[in-house]
Parts: sequence; C-alpha cells; structure tokens
Amino acid sequence: MELVNDVHSRLNPTRVASVQRPGTTEELARIVKQAALAGRGLTVAGGRHAMGGQAFREGGLLVDARGLDRILDVDQERQIVRAQAGVDWRTLIDELGRRAPELAIVQKPTGADDMTLGGSVASNVHGRGLSLGPLVDQLAALELLDADGVLHRCSAEDERFRLAVGGYGQAGIVTEVALRLQRKLRVRRGVSVRAAPGIVEALESARDEGALFGDFQMAIEPTADALFRRGVLSTYAPVSSRVPLDQPRRLDARAWRRLLELAHTQPGRAFAEYAAYYTQTHGQVYESDRAQLATYLPDYHLELDRRCAARCPGSEMITELYVPRARCELFLGDLRAALIGAGAQPIYATLRLIERDATTALAWAREPWACLVVNLHVDHDEAGRADAIGRFRALIDVALGHGGSFYLTYHRWATGGQLRAAHPGLVGFLRRTGELDPERRFESDWSASLRERLAPNGFVDART
Ligand SMILES: Cc1cc2nc3c(=O)[nH]c(=O)nc-3n(C[C@H](O)[C@H](O)[C@H](O)COP(=O)(O)OP(=O)(O)OC[C@H]3O[C@@H](n4cnc5c(N)ncnc54)[C@H](O)[C@@H]3O)c2cc1C
Repeated sequence: MELVNDVHSRLNPTRVASVQRPGTTEELARIVKQAALAGRGLTVAGGRHAMGGQAFREGGLLVDARGLDRILDVDQERQIVRAQAGVDWRTLIDELGRRAPELAIVQKPTGADDMTLGGSVASNVHGRGLSLGPLVDQLAALELLDADGVLHRCSAEDERFRLAVGGYGQAGIVTEVALRLQRKLRVRRGVSVRAAPGIVEALESARDEGALFGDFQMAIEPTADALFRRGVLSTYAPVSSRVPLDQPRRLDARAWRRLLELAHTQPGRAFAEYAAYYTQTHGQVYESDRAQLATYLPDYHLELDRRCAARCPGSEMITELYVPRARCELFLGDLRAALIGAGAQPIYATLRLIERDATTALAWAREPWACLVVNLHVDHDEAGRADAIGRFRALIDVALGHGGSFYLTYHRWATGGQLRAAHPGLVGFLRRTGELDPERRFESDWSASLRERLAPNGFVDART
C-alpha cells in the first residue's frame, strides 16, 4: 500500500494498492487490461492538484500519467501540437519555444504550471481569458483508453470526447491530446487599483478594446468596508511583435512566502503590498504564453505552520463560484456578508470571466459567467474541517441564490441538493459513464462520493 495525497490542500490522504508509472501508451493499455482481468479499480493522476479525491481510489491502483511525457509533433501549418497526457504546461511552453517559436498555447490554468494536459482535459480548465471558454475549445482531438484497455481516437463530434473533457477520468484515460495553438503574441499588462463596483463592465470593456486576458485580485481583509470592495485590475492587450519584451519582474519565492504569511496574519497589509508590487508592473510587455506562468510553492503551508506555531497543520482549500455577470455585484455583497458572518477570511480572491462551453457533457461554463476563485484556510483537525465544510457549503448557497454554480475540481463537500442545482447534467453523466464502464473500474473516491450524495434524491446507478 502507498499513501498519496493532493498537493495543495493535503486533505485527501488515500492508501492505494500501488502506483504505476507507465512510459508508453502500450504499457498503460497493458496495466488497464491487467486491472480489468483482476477486477481491480484504477484511477489516473497527473499533477495531483484536484482537491476532492478525483484522482484517487482507496485500495485501487493509481496510474501516475507523468511518465507519458513526450511532445509528439507540432503541425506548424494547422497550429496544433500533439502531446502525451502527462506533459505539464511549463514543459509544453518551454518546448514549443524551442520547436515552434512562432506558436503559443492559448490558455492554461493559473496558479501552478505542473498541471498535466490529461488532468487539465479531465477538469476542462480555464485561465484568465476575457473572451475564452474553457480548454475544450482548444482541443482538436484526444486519444482515450477505455476500461478494457481499448484505444479510441475522438474529436468533439464523439460522445466519448464530450464525456471525457471535464469528466474527471470517468470516461476513460487520456493518453494523447491534440491541442490548438495560436500565433505567439506580445501583450502589455495594464494595472490599476480600483473599487469593485462595475468590475464586470471594466473587464468587458477591456475585452472590447482588445485585451485578451484579465482578472481582478480583491482585498481580503474581513471587514464590511474592505472585503471585496477594492482590487487590482490587470489586463493584457496585444502589442506589435516589434515592441521589446521586458525582463519579467516577478515576485520570487521569498516574496510570495511573505505575502502568503501576511494574508493569514495581516490581510490588509497583504493586499496593500500586493497592490503596490503589481502597480509597478504596469506597462510591462510579455509573451502571451509566458505571462501565464506562475510561481507555485508546494510546501508553503508547512513552513507557515511552523513559523506561526499553528495548533495543527493547515492548508488552503480553493473554491470557484460562478454567477451570471449581471448578478456579480449583489453576489459579492452577499458573499461578503456570509464570510464575515462565519468569521472566515479568504487568503486569496480573484474574479475572472468565462464564455459558454457548448460542447462537453458536464459543462461547468453553462453561461458566460463571472468566476470568483476564492480560498479559505482549513485547520486539519476535526473542528477545522467541520468549519470549512459549513463555510464552503454556505458560499455555494450564495452562488446558487444568484442562479450560479461552482467548479467540481476542488473539495467534495457540496451537498446532493447543491450538486443537482449547480450541475443539472451530473446524474445523466454518471449514468452514461456507468454504462460505458459497467464494472466501474475507473471509479474514484470522488465519483463514488458524488453517487452517494446524489443517491438519497433518487439517483439510479446504471448497474441497479
Ligand atoms: C494552486 C492551484 C491553482 C489552480 N488554478 C486553476 C485555474 O486557474 N484554472 C482551472 O481551471 N483550474 C485550476 N486549478 C485546478 C486544476 O487545474 C485542476 O484540478 C487540474 O485537473 C489539475 O491537473 P492535474 O494534472 O494536477 O490533475 P490531477 O489533480 O492529477 O487529476 C485531476 C483529475 O484529472 C484526472 N486525470 C488526470 N490525468 C488524466 C488522464 N491522463 N486521463 C484522464 N483523466 C485524468 C484525474 O483522474 C482527476 O479526476 C488549480 C489548482 C490549484 C491547486
């Protein structure tokens, strides 16, 4: 048995029977076939950044897809790269820089760079595009292994594709991804510190004036006149390729650690220092792909716990809430009241836009939403978890109250009622993936928990 966990929250310790790291698709197909013969469950993990047990199954086999790490070819004419599912975003960006310097990825998740292509497909991720839908729009084709180890090549017209993208490994294992690229662009960052009211309109008007990316990093001090009242608006607008690039001015690991500590201990100061730093980067010019790279500190909380003599280990759990854009201002007000009422303070909160996903079976971007990414500290003892569960459920209720939804890639604390309200396609999705994998070999702790939470309301498993 081997103990595995997600990287960021460390709230999903899971004992798996073994971890296998195939180096080729053939080896992976053999593992899947052997698991089928032995009647063994099997899940697949990439960077292990999903935070609700999506990649793990207690007692099952775990495939570490990161051994499938080859970039297979770049079709410069069609602007498509074909890569194995274990390739991560930083490697892809670096390698494209060498092999096809005129081309670039369109978007990646922000916050960390070691998410894999397979994990990103399975969550149907998004970045901070101002006029982009989720990753599905850049997927030209996928290769998928089914539960019997049979390989399928699929495009957006195929049901398997539509189930697999955003399907958290339930519709097969992604072995290969054909990803659409774009011509490499230079973008100029615009930074302003401003009040939150009217922020959706500000992001939309930056988009209408040509900006490609943007977000709004908000104040986190848990008081009625600070929380979500102000923020740092950053936008990225294309400039001519003749405009010289700036030496990227990035916060180094030490500066990030300091900001993260301040976010826990002096949130007002954390925001002020962050805003002051970001304002200095106004006007800088970057490449559109490298501007999406991030500094990620996988161990920052362990160090923070030590320095602050925490009563128990802790970490941050992220959540992402969506609301119709017209409701955003009221939503932020209600969220502020809910957080302050619960004595909770975000460590980080940022607002972005997303366009509708018209392709995937379990589309989370059901409308052009405003997206709020927010994380809360969780103490890893019983009381801390109970608090976190209550708080995250309350946040989801606020989003639902405004006709919104939430992202499935984070915790698995939503109730059955919340799941049904936010993800009306979920029951049908589980039923259909259950038909394709009747022995539920790809069941994860997360999907088992979904079915359990949905069951009291009449969810009928395909096997029953
Ligand atoms: C700090 C941080 C910042 C983040 N920022 C963003 C963001 O900006 N935007 C966003 O959309 N998300 C964001 N996320 C969420 C993250 O992008 C997703 O959870 C993504 O799935 C992680 O990829 P991974 O390689 O780590 O996948 P894992 O966590 O390893 O796996 C996630 C899911 O994908 C499945 N999977 C993995 N590989 C395969 C494969 N080859 N075939 C089939 N299924 C597979 C797993 O079974 C699991 O269900 C963030 C997460 C963290 C911790």
